[in-house]
Amino acid sequence: MGSCSVEFIYPRKARQAGADKMEMLIGGDWRPAVSGRAEDVTSPFDGTVTGTVPVADAGDVRAALDRAEAGAAAWRRTPAFERMTILMRAAELADERAEQTAQIISAEAGKTITEARGEASRSGDLIRLAAFEGTQLYGDALPLDANPGTGLDKIGFTLHQPVGIVAAITPFNYPALLVMHKLAPALAAGNAVVLKPARTTPLTALALARCFTDAGLPDRVLSVVTGPGRSLGDALVTDPRVRKISFTGSTATGQRITRLAGIKKLSLELGSSCPVVVLPDADVELAASAVAAGGYINAGQVCISVQRVITHPAIGTDFLDALVPKVEAIRTGNPGSADTTMGTLITAAEAERVEGSIRQAVADGAKLLTGGERDGAIISPAVVAGVDPQSSFSQDELFGPAVAVSSAEDWEGAIAQANGTPYGLGAGIFTADVAGAVRAIREIDAGNVHINWTPLWRADLMPYGGLKASGIGKEGPRSAVAEMTDAKTVILHGRPW
Ligand code: NAP
Repeated sequence: MGSCSVEFIYPRKARQAGADKMEMLIGGDWRPAVSGRAEDVTSPFDGTVTGTVPVADAGDVRAALDRAEAGAAAWRRTPAFERMTILMRAAELADERAEQTAQIISAEAGKTITEARGEASRSGDLIRLAAFEGTQLYGDALPLDANPGTGLDKIGFTLHQPVGIVAAITPFNYPALLVMHKLAPALAAGNAVVLKPARTTPLTALALARCFTDAGLPDRVLSVVTGPGRSLGDALVTDPRVRKISFTGSTATGQRITRLAGIKKLSLELGSSCPVVVLPDADVELAASAVAAGGYINAGQVCISVQRVITHPAIGTDFLDALVPKVEAIRTGNPGSADTTMGTLITAAEAERVEGSIRQAVADGAKLLTGGERDGAIISPAVVAGVDPQSSFSQDELFGPAVAVSSAEDWEGAIAQANGTPYGLGAGIFTADVAGAVRAIREIDAGNVHINWTPLWRADLMPYGGLKASGIGKEGPRSAVAEMTDAKTVILHGRPW
């Protein structure tokens, strides 16, 4: 699932009007890479150059971390109220600039402008939620006198403090939302942050960073380094000054980070193959409508996208009959047009990979009911029926606009299929039976479980994260602030009286 700059795929094309030569942010200074290297960011739809960014190297990462050391020391001494005030200003700026951010997201990621507007509009509220959580670093008073022999002459409590330097690494698919789910809680909790955004979508991250610097965030607290994931990622995650790594991306990259990181706090939001179970007593029309959205939003490039649907034979045909016309109604095309309801994949190479996976599923005996055609970076939305649950089309993350449908004879078989991949991020169960729903909630191995909806649903304040190969830890402002702080246990030693 590696992302590569589309300049390697398309011949260079005209620059979009307003396509800027951007600088990156090194602890308060906007500047080029020390090497002077820069690269174009291009639209996956037509290859238009949407901006140019520095290509940083390990030396730039070290410079950002040098600044972050000083920034972390100063920011942790800044009272929570002052931190919150700056973040509230940044939230206002994010709101004011939401349309501009949406245009950048759509241009560099190929996301429909409608979806990009929805994503961009969440930044301000997300910063406000995080800013609040940064003021809520309550500790516990410890009842030490309940310990045998300790008596009453000691008082103990816990004190929550920022971890220091957070390294944030983000993927291409939600270039604003997933950046904000790291920057806002890390800053709210009092940390310095060095962000490495995806190489295909750095422009959104740089624009969002400006909201914080323009809001008065002190110099040295925030850096955004742009360039290749492997070398910058390795430099960041191996540096002993980094105390916490917050990574969202593929399971393969997450595994590498885990091996290299050493003793650091880790949050890993990784890949998935999310299931939806449609039981015989389900509202089939509701299930079909929800899957027709949940499998295809952002062209299926969502970690909580519906990849597998497991139906009971009694309603399997009705479900497909309801699903296929809804999927055929999805309109592909220019992401910048309000008429387009599904945009491109992040690169033509990714679209080729997805096209190949669909073809392989068909070669293995599945039936393509609609879609699966490629035009550049666009794949027409596909429904593939009769998929073997053990095939790679079910087992491996697809990250594209296709849903695999299979069947299970009974409740146990359906839940076993749902749990039968290495992943465990999200799951949905459609049923009218409360008892069956309760049992499924307990037995499905997924970090987010939805009853009568698909896993493609997220409120930004909720705890969010995967089980098994889908990751470690939770995001969402309250959870992220907790994971980006350390608890100290403090004992005041008095004297017996
Ligand atoms: P990716 O290839 O793993 O890249 C993610 C980020 O890691 C990018 O910034 C990438 O930089 C960087 N990176 C690459 N190699 C690295 C290394 N050796 N060390 C450190 N960082 C490195 O993932 P992607 O293709 O961008 O994103 C899709 C994946 O993200 C899917 O698997 C999806 O499920 C997952 N995802 C998970 C969640 C969740 O909440 N669980 C949410 C969204 C996406 P470059 O871009 O420069 O390569």
